[in-house]
Amino acid sequence: PTAVVKKRRVLLKLSGEAFGGGAVGVNPDVVSSLAREIAEGAKQVEVAIVVGGGNFFRGAELSQRGMDRGRADYMGMLGTVMNALALQDFLEQAGAETRVQSAISMTQVAEQYIPRRAERHLEKGRVVIFGAGAGLPYFSTDTVAAQRALEIDADVVLVAKNGVDGVYSDDPRTNPDARKIHHITYLEALQRGLKVVDSTAFSLCMDNHMPMQVFGMAPEGNVTAAILGTDLGTRVSN
Ligand code: UDP
Repeated sequence: PTAVVKKRRVLLKLSGEAFGGGAVGVNPDVVSSLAREIAEGAKQVEVAIVVGGGNFFRGAELSQRGMDRGRADYMGMLGTVMNALALQDFLEQAGAETRVQSAISMTQVAEQYIPRRAERHLEKGRVVIFGAGAGLPYFSTDTVAAQRALEIDADVVLVAKNGVDGVYSDDPRTNPDARKIHHITYLEALQRGLKVVDSTAFSLCMDNHMPMQVFGMAPEGNVTAAILGTDLGTRVSN
C-alpha cells in the first residue's frame, strides 16, 4: 500500500495594519499583492489564515478613549471580518478557492467556525480565512492564530509583520543597536518581554510545542517563500 503523504499545513497571521497600507480601511493594491503571493504558496501547501483588524479598530485603544472595552473589542472583531472578505475577494481573483469562517455568526457573510470543516476545506486545497478573532473580548488575533494553528493541527504559525522583519534584541525603531535574532525560545521571548507577538500567543505555543516563524511581508515574495518553508526572519520554538 502506498503511504499517504501529508501536505505541509501552515497558519498565516496577517496584521490588519498591513491591509490598510498605513491608513484606515483596506488598500486594494496591498491586499491584491498579498493575495497573489498567498495563492502561489497555496498551490503546494495547505494555507489557513487569521486576519487582524488594527486598520479599523483596536479595542484597547478605544477603551482608553472612554469606550466600554468589551464593546470596543467586538468592533475590533468586526473589522477583522471586513479584512477577511477583502482578502477572500483578491484570493479568488488570483485563482485560489477560499472559504471564510467567522467566530461570530453572520451566516450571510461567512461560514461559522467549524474546525473539522475547516480541515476538510484545507484538504481540498481551499484557503481558509478565519475572521472575527476568537469571538471573545480581551483576546488578540495573534493569540487566535496560535489557537487555530493548534486546533487544525498546523505545522507552524507564520507571523507576517509589517515594518519589521523578525524578532530583535530591542525595538529597532527606537534602538539603532537592536539586532535581529535568528532563533529564540518562547521562554526567552517571554522573559525578555519581546512584544512583536503578544505574550498570550507565545505562551500558548510554548505550552503546546507549536513553532512560530516571525518574518517581514516585504520584500515581495517573502510571504510565498515563508508558506513554502523558507527559513525567513526569526524562528521561535521551545
Ligand atoms: N479582538 C478581540 N478578540 C479576538 C480578536 C480580536 O477582542 O479574539 C479585537 C481587539 O479589540 C483587537 C481588534 O479586535 O484590538 C483587532 O485585532 P488585533 O489588534 O489583533 O489586530 P492586528 O493588530 O493584528 O491588526
